[in-house]
This record gives sequence, C-alpha cells and structure tokens, in this order.
Amino acid sequence: MARLTVIGGGIIGLACAWRLTQAGHRVTVLDAAPGVREASWAAAGMLAPHHEYDPALTVGSDGAQAQALWNLGCDSLERWPAFAADLGGAEALDFHQEGGLVPLFPEDTPAALARAEGLARAGVSVEDLSGSALAVLAPGLAVTRALRLPAAQVDPRRTTAALIAALGPAVHYGERAVALEGTTVITSRERRLSADTVVLASGAWTPDLATLAGLDLPGEPVKGQMLRFALEDGALKAFVHCHQAYLVPRAGAGLIVGSTMRWSGFDRTESAEDIAHLTASARRLLPGLASHPLEHWTGLRPRLARGLPLVDQVRPGLIVATGHFRNGILLTPLTADLVVDLVAGRPVPSAVRA
Ligand SMILES: Cc1cc2nc3c(=O)[nH]c(=O)nc-3n(C[C@H](O)[C@H](O)[C@H](O)COP(=O)(O)OP(=O)(O)OC[C@H]3O[C@@H](n4cnc5c(N)ncnc54)[C@H](O)[C@@H]3O)c2cc1C
Repeated sequence: MARLTVIGGGIIGLACAWRLTQAGHRVTVLDAAPGVREASWAAAGMLAPHHEYDPALTVGSDGAQAQALWNLGCDSLERWPAFAADLGGAEALDFHQEGGLVPLFPEDTPAALARAEGLARAGVSVEDLSGSALAVLAPGLAVTRALRLPAAQVDPRRTTAALIAALGPAVHYGERAVALEGTTVITSRERRLSADTVVLASGAWTPDLATLAGLDLPGEPVKGQMLRFALEDGALKAFVHCHQAYLVPRAGAGLIVGSTMRWSGFDRTESAEDIAHLTASARRLLPGLASHPLEHWTGLRPRLARGLPLVDQVRPGLIVATGHFRNGILLTPLTADLVVDLVAGRPVPSAVRA
C-alpha cells in the first residue's frame, strides 16, 4: 500500500484517486477551488473519439499525434461502461451509448462522406441515417440525413459528484498546494502532507505546479464558451456534432451547446459575439430552440505544447496526469487505470509518456 497526495480535484484527479483507493492505496486529494469548478464542470461530456478524427491525416507529426490520440480515445471509450457501472450506474451519471450524429448539410456532405469511408476502413461502424431512423433519434433536426458514429456521453458534473461521494473525507476542496518539497506538499492551510508519491492532476494549472517541482512542462489553457438551452428530456436522444457547434442533451438540464477555442491564457471572460455565434449555429441545427440560452459559461481546457496528454512518472515519487485538452472526460477511465499501473510499476503506452 502506498500513500499518495493528488493535487487537483477535477475529473482526472478524482478518478485517479478513486481507482487508487480501490487498488488499496491511501489517497488524499487537494483542490484550490471550493468545489468542482474548472474544465470538468464546464465540459459537455461527449465521449467521442471518432468525431474529430481524420483517418486521412497520416503524415508527419500531426498524423502520428492524431492516430495516437484516437487509439487512446478508443481504448478509454471501451472502459467507460464498466467505469460508469462501478460508480453508481448509467442512470446516476446520465451515461448513454446511443452514438453521436454528424448532420449532413449539402455543403458538408462530400467531406463528411469521405471521412466516413476512412473511418469505415479503419473498422469503425458508420451508419447513414435518414427518414424515420433519424427522426426517432433527433426529431427536430434541420437535416434529413446524418451519419451516426459509435460514441457515448455522460454528465461530467454528476460523474465528479459521484467520485467525491465515493472518496468521502479523502477530498479537500478550498486547500491549494503552494509548495512541494520532495514528496511533501505544503498547502494554503499550512499543512505539510507527506506521501510516497504526489500526483499532479491540476488541469490547466499543472505547468505552474510543475515549476514548483523544478519541471519544465510547457502548456497553456484553451478557453471554450458553452451555452445551455431549455429542452425537454428525450427530445434529442443522441448528441449532434459538426464543425460549427455541438448539441448535447443532458437529463433534467436541457441542451448543452458548445464550443469555441480561444487562446487567451487564464482569462475566462465571456464574449457576446461567441454566444451569438453559437446560438445561431445551434438554431441552424435545431430550429425549434429558443433564441436565447438559459445560461452560459466558459472553461479552460488543459493543453500541453506536445498536444497529447501526459500520464507518466516523471521522477521517483512524482506522477503527472494532465494535458487532456478536448478529451479529458473521454480519457478519464484510461488515465485512472494508467496511474494505478504507474504506482504498481507497470509501463504505460508510449503516447502518454514524458
Ligand atoms: C468548454 C469545454 C468543453 C469540453 N467538452 C468535453 C467533452 O465533451 N468531452 C471530453 O472528453 N472533454 C471535454 N472537455 C475537456 C475536459 O473537460 C478536460 O480535458 C478535463 O475536464 C480536464 O480535467 P482535469 O481534472 O485535468 O482539469 P480540471 O477539471 O480543470 O481540474 C483541475 C483542478 O486543479 C485544481 N488546482 C489548480 N491548481 C491547484 C493547486 N495549486 N492546488 C490544488 N488544486 C489546484 C483546480 O482548482 C481544478 O479543480 C471540455 C472542456 C471545456 C473547457
């Protein structure tokens, strides 16, 4: 049994702590915020490795990176059903596996079909839906044809709440890690927490914390704008994803619409222009939507300069689990299992190594 301190109580830190506890370790989680507030709170919750993957992109480092991310995403998607079942069940987390739709507007159809052919050649089962098959899943959608790709979705806020409940008194919000001395973490409450291993899972703030540990981990946050509209439960049964916007139904909460990508450091300011643009894109997809969202917010995606997540033991007693960028909810079960592997001395895939 090892003693671990996890710095960061977003979905990554919490899931690592939960799986480590299940593996018999003693874990403490610290988070600077008063509760789950950052990227894991902001996220849409699509578990969608195929929707942004282009199988035609095979050359150079971009191709290798896209391929590596796709492999990690496919692996983690397979782990999601067991993860959700262990954590309280699909209904409790609003976990669904209906897949995700790609709407075929005439101007997008040739490119979308070419990508779908590539996905099919790579073994992904792509369904071409129209008529009643499409109407059952998405009755109000503005298109008459859409592709359905294998995918799932989950409510990240319910998931983090379930993880916090499972971890109980091991989780301490409102307590920031301010210094690291070897494997001792000094906190904003002037506690000194000694452990065998420290796990840095502090999302967009991990590069700053890495500096405290004497590590250079280049990365920067990427802001995303989100909206929430009123929508009856069951009105949309699968999420809809295209390059202008995505629509994700959430049980009891309406419809989540996202998102933008803004490189503006830790600035979380909302932009009226982005909100208007996303509203127009969402209403183009689902014309029945209201003209104004009920709510809107931004979140900071943790992106490392290397483009891929980092899940590795960077030196004895120090594990880093971050850089999940646009796919942290998808990659949660895999990341947690890999951190358990690292603590047990087992190797992790080369794509996530330092
Ligand atoms: C708008 C948006 C939409 C998204 N949609 C999706 C999606 O549909 N599917 C998907 O898979 N992914 C999605 N993502 C990405 C996903 O949300 C992130 O990759 C994931 O949540 C990262 O989790 P995390 O725990 O690493 O970071 P966070 O959730 O940001 O948690 C990091 C935590 O570290 C804490 N912290 C920071 N510094 C310290 C310190 N010094 N001491 C203690 N604690 C500290 C912070 O308070 C924070 O709670 C989305 C992200 C955004 C912003």
